[in-house]
Amino acid sequence: MAQPAGGANPIRIPFNRPCFTGNELTYINEAVLQRGHISGDGHFTKQCSAFLEREIGVHKALLTTNCTHALEMSALLLNIQPGDEVICPDFTFVSTINAFVLRGAKPVFVDVRSDTLNLDENLLEAAITSRTRAILVVHYGGIGAEMDTIMAIAARYQIPVIEDNAHGLFAKYKGRNLGTFGVMATQSFHETKNFQCGEGGALLITDERYAERAEIIREKGTNRSRFFRGQVDKYTWVDVGSSYLPSDVLAAFLWAQFEGKESIQARRQKIWDRYQSELTDWADQHDVQLPTVPAYCDQAYHVFYVVLPNLQSRQNLIAHLRSRGILGVFHYLPLHLSDKGQEFGGKAGDCPVTERLGECLLRLPLFNDLTEADQTDVISAIHEFDGWV
Ligand SMILES: *Cc1c(COP(=O)(O)O)cnc(C)c1O
Repeated sequence: MAQPAGGANPIRIPFNRPCFTGNELTYINEAVLQRGHISGDGHFTKQCSAFLEREIGVHKALLTTNCTHALEMSALLLNIQPGDEVICPDFTFVSTINAFVLRGAKPVFVDVRSDTLNLDENLLEAAITSRTRAILVVHYGGIGAEMDTIMAIAARYQIPVIEDNAHGLFAKYKGRNLGTFGVMATQSFHETKNFQCGEGGALLITDERYAERAEIIREKGTNRSRFFRGQVDKYTWVDVGSSYLPSDVLAAFLWAQFEGKESIQARRQKIWDRYQSELTDWADQHDVQLPTVPAYCDQAYHVFYVVLPNLQSRQNLIAHLRSRGILGVFHYLPLHLSDKGQEFGGKAGDCPVTERLGECLLRLPLFNDLTEADQTDVISAIHEFDGWV
């Protein structure tokens, strides 16, 4: 589905712009010129990993080249084999499940709740079979999925849970950090995420039984990490693996972002809260759905979305914003209806909530340094929209 054309107007307010806290280049200079270590696992990688371990409270945090690769590592760690089934929400990014399909898994798509847009825990149990090897959970927009119920079901069937927490860094469900519920979790530092270094990610390990093998898989199947810690006197090939280490140059950039944690999150919260307070009446009048944040969720302020009553109204609103130089974008198309999803038997009607979201959801510009004046323009443009169908 193409974004509707917006005429010749230049984009004045983008959907996303990568933002800086100020120290990114200072730290890159330090990595390159002073420390002279720009491959993986240098000074800044260690600082970022220790920060994630401390802040999130996980056994180990391993920086990776991106979230997709962290997901691939988790599929290797769980020994996913051809024919294994892996459950995931239908409303998510391709990488969540593709990392497992790469190992031969059969995806089992479960529809999402219509309020939080997270995996519908009431549909989970029916999707489990004797071949289910993993349950993937995504916290859409950084608002926690129903982890109490999901974890109870997973425990009953003894199936490991993996959190694709690309949206939810530093968010909480009932006071507990997202990324600490499953055996492991993955993060993204892609430039569209709250904290970014262009391309980057992390694998967070909660269940320490996976920690040593995770280091090996990340280091081309060698025990190089143990060698560097002086635990073995030479390093060698011990398992399968690949190369999932980011350069310390990127970690230096990411460290500057982590240092700005409080200001980044406060800024995003301010923008998010303003959208909500100034669009609530409009949404009520026009039967538009705004995000639902359960009282027990401390969210990450990653996405602000509106769900329009139908596809044509959504397309008209996209075109209307675009005519004013504002870029609003839709989000995930239902995985089960994608070309690849249909190969696994996906057909229309399987996941009705996701099918509606694919047609009706629109995300508004939200990035750390969106100015107050620009946000005013976005909100005014929405109030003035009259292309309802
Ligand atoms: C962004 C994103 C990814 C992929 O992240 P990369 O770092 O680009 O690989 C995976 N899952 C979700 C839910 C995402 O939003």
